[in-house]
Amino acid sequence: MSAGAYDPNNIFAKILRGEIPSHRVYEDDDAIAFMDVMPQAKGHTLIVPKVPSRNLLDADPQTLSRLIPVVQKIAVAVKEAFDADGVTVIQFNEPAAGQTVFHLHFHVIPRVDGVPLRPHSGTMEDPAVLAGNAEKLRAALAG
Ligand code: 5GP
Repeated sequence: MSAGAYDPNNIFAKILRGEIPSHRVYEDDDAIAFMDVMPQAKGHTLIVPKVPSRNLLDADPQTLSRLIPVVQKIAVAVKEAFDADGVTVIQFNEPAAGQTVFHLHFHVIPRVDGVPLRPHSGTMEDPAVLAGNAEKLRAALAG
């Protein structure tokens, strides 16, 4: 698919519409956040705007301005929830850069000193583990 085209049947559009399940931890008028099913570290979370865009390159600047505060909120909460030393924020644009799902999203990944990231889109996590991690993150967001 050429850059610029938005496919409304991408997996995150389906998650936004509730057509497929996710471990959702946050929702407001502009965005949702849920656990990545192939986490690069414990607590890997994705933040997805409700307004469709393929990635950063075609996003409305207003979408971005509403999304970044949510990215910050989740970053602060994952650091607390997973007792992390730091937080990596990643965002890929187009296949050449590693993008695999074509609805704009930010990765928020808790980091522990000396522990490398697992591969991007690597191994599926046990759903029970994701559910437990989601619960921890919801608790941190509520606190
Ligand atoms: P991208 O490469 O597009 O930046 O990253 C897509 C991310 O979505 C990957 O980290 C991958 O593990 C995750 N992912 C792919 N399919 C699903 C899914 O069905 N549900 C969830 N929660 N995450 C997914």
